[in-house]
Amino acid sequence: MEKIILTGDRPTGRLHVGHYAGSLRRRVELQDSGEYSRTFIMIADAQALTDNIEEPEKVRQNIIEVALDYMSCGLDPARSTMFIQSQISELCELTFYYMDLVTVARLQRNPTVKNEIQMRNFEASIPVGFFTYPISQAADITAFKATTVPVGDDQLPMIEQTREIVHKFNTVYAPVLVEPSALLAANEASKRLPGTDGKAKMSKSLGNCIYLADSADEVRAKVMSMFTDPQHLLVSDPGHLEGNTVFTYLDAFCKPEHFGRYLPDYGDLDELKAHYQRGGLGDMKVKKFLNNVMQELLEPIRTRRKELEKDIPAIYEILKKGSEEAREVAAETLSQVKSAMRINYFEDADLIRSQSERFGRNAQ
Ligand code: ATP
Ligand code: MG
Repeated sequence: MEKIILTGDRPTGRLHVGHYAGSLRRRVELQDSGEYSRTFIMIADAQALTDNIEEPEKVRQNIIEVALDYMSCGLDPARSTMFIQSQISELCELTFYYMDLVTVARLQRNPTVKNEIQMRNFEASIPVGFFTYPISQAADITAFKATTVPVGDDQLPMIEQTREIVHKFNTVYAPVLVEPSALLAANEASKRLPGTDGKAKMSKSLGNCIYLADSADEVRAKVMSMFTDPQHLLVSDPGHLEGNTVFTYLDAFCKPEHFGRYLPDYGDLDELKAHYQRGGLGDMKVKKFLNNVMQELLEPIRTRRKELEKDIPAIYEILKKGSEEAREVAAETLSQVKSAMRINYFEDADLIRSQSERFGRNAQ
């Protein structure tokens, strides 16, 4: 079977290093691997509007930011189709039909939706569009017959829900849709990168992010004020690694060669960790090392972004062309979905013939 990638981000802000660790880095590797026949990358503006109803301008402004972040990280429009969700009206149609296959109780059980409702203080005033966004996400994934969805682990319940919808559709109607699999980051720390404040997830909505486009000074300041181990007061005190964001970031971003370049007293991360736990290693030294690691990662991304920013119309053109290409694929799936659901009346010559025969017989 063809291997196809679909993934995306909400244009609610610039992308951050959590996106990079959880999904973006993987997407670029997959795009470059040549193993996938197509890669679709969606800017999920319609989904962003489900919980940003008062802020359409924020969503509008961030489309270009996200597109710039994508391309600065190495997503290449020649190999990845980048598009804007709202421009593919077929996705709304698919969502509408999939709604028949999901119960309210099932949506209420979705742990990500539960958690996000709590985070946004929606309580009794949950917009229906927000509540049902897992269904629209199923439409996004299945419209492109995606086999592989590179995501952070907060998205696992969404992929599970999509698989259920696919299974139900294919059983009730006809085997048209493809069951996708989530592809998580290889290391634990990257699956859900915590915020610089130590909170469970770096998230645009929580304001605890290091953005891909932050300046070198901003990155340094954020790293230096990161949450570590509150009990590690003196350098000589033994330090703890659990919940220590600086070490979690090192797990996610540090490579063995960084030691030679920036911290030659240590052979690898395990040695550094052991020293920290023993006592005698100050937070400042570890933070300085992390800052070097982050600067090395982000510097080329920032430089490419500056280049791309010189021709903004070209970026919109890429998104427009990508949206047109994506739309063709989604339209083909929608057409298969409608025939499976027996709602393709005018394309079905057999239907019209058999109906005329039936009425012809009755008339005789
Ligand atoms: P919002 O707060 O608006 O929901 P977000 O920061 O959660 O924004 P999304 O656009 O919802 O970002 O997520 C896009 C993708 O990035 C998803 O695959 C998600 O799993 C992944 N992702 C987001 N934050 C992180 C994180 N901190 N660690 C790992 N992956 C993440
Ligand atoms: Mg999110």
